Amino acid sequence: MSLIVQKYGGTSVGSPEKIEAVAEKIAHMHGQGHQLVVVVSAMSGETNRLLKLSAEVHEQPSAREMDVLLSTGEQVTIALLCMALQKRAVEARSYTGQQVHILTNNVHGKARIQSIEADRVRKDLAKGRVVVIAGFQGVDSEGNITTLGRGGSDTTAVAMAATLSADECQIYTDVDGVYTTDPRIVPEARRLDRITVEEMLEMSSLGAKVLQIRSVEFAGKYKVPLRVLSAFEDGPGTLITYEEKEMEQAQISGIAFNRDEAKLTILGVPDQPGVAYNILGAVANADVNVDMIVQNVGEDGTTNFTFTVHRSEFQQAQTILQKLARDLKAREVSGDDKIVKISVVGVGMRSHAGVASTMFKALADEGINIQMISTSEIKVSVVVDEKYLELGVRALHTAFELDQVVEK
Ligand code: ADP
Ligand code: ASP
Ligand code: MG
Repeated sequence: MSLIVQKYGGTSVGSPEKIEAVAEKIAHMHGQGHQLVVVVSAMSGETNRLLKLSAEVHEQPSAREMDVLLSTGEQVTIALLCMALQKRAVEARSYTGQQVHILTNNVHGKARIQSIEADRVRKDLAKGRVVVIAGFQGVDSEGNITTLGRGGSDTTAVAMAATLSADECQIYTDVDGVYTTDPRIVPEARRLDRITVEEMLEMSSLGAKVLQIRSVEFAGKYKVPLRVLSAFEDGPGTLITYEEKEMEQAQISGIAFNRDEAKLTILGVPDQPGVAYNILGAVANADVNVDMIVQNVGEDGTTNFTFTVHRSEFQQAQTILQKLARDLKAREVSGDDKIVKISVVGVGMRSHAGVASTMFKALADEGINIQMISTSEIKVSVVVDEKYLELGVRALHTAFELDQVVEK
């Protein structure tokens, strides 16, 4: 008998019929004697619907009330799933994040889990109950409801699995595993049997939404056995592994992209010590996260400074920069929120030279202009015009022969 934490995403519980199908699957596994903790997301589209609703009432709603609102989506699905299980004579209990004491910090909208008190869950499991927990939500030390950021139910599941020392954490979604790139963009993308946690971290942080980045961080920290699977069909899915890959490996295991980026440039800033600090310090003080940074030194004693931010924080960052430009006597500020970031990821890159040049050539051959570049040991990222997203991802998928590689 094993203890399994399962998570079903929005599409997997997107209608009463789908909830019934999930209940059927759970009832079957429960019948085989497994102990099951099930984390669910809101029905697909529900979180976006709530976001729109709030926008109709207030332009800038308070973060605290946003979390009260957004957390309701998951409360609907836990109850419906328990009803569907009870209909199948499976004893099941639903709990909100608050009820199972998923304690987080107080950063509304992107709270981090600090601890989970799982006694109640363990007691239910001991009585043979299936425990159904609302994903994406927690509670801070003062009792305020918090949410974990978009896609946060993945993190609830992995954190729950770590707390319970579960035998496996299974993330059920609308694709049957982690692919070489988003199969919706490249139909030839290949499912990976395994991916190292390091690569998965990069893929998630660079935009692959299949697992929320924080869930992968948790998995890495606590070595949670983690698998991504289809909610609709049987199959092995993709296992996240914790050992290094063998020497004989593909240079690149996947391509990630992020459509949520925007670029800002401050031009003609007098070039002197402290420029980067002045600019980025002001941006950081406003809690705006900066991603890629490039500084070009001009010949006339001035410099141009470019960086990217999340698209939702573009306006805010632009306003800060315009004020700063006046203070620093810079020439002008320009911005572009029609850009995307495309990245190639692979631990094999460490032992292979030439990944960047293959990447740049593939993009050049398609006439795609690269606006910014950043590299790390296991990834190369570029910023390009958003109209080239699909063309760029497909060209790179072919250039690195990702549709052909046979896994070891
Ligand atoms: P859920 O609602 O189950 O949490 P998500 O929409 O958050 O599902 O994540 C699954 C989606 O992630 C897929 O439908 C797919 O479009 C997207 N995706 C992006 N990159 C990848 C990738 N490399 N492999 C698999 N899916 C990916
Ligand atoms: N319902 C939340 C969202 O749409 C959390 C999740 O699905 O994981 O982002
Ligand atoms: Mg998700």
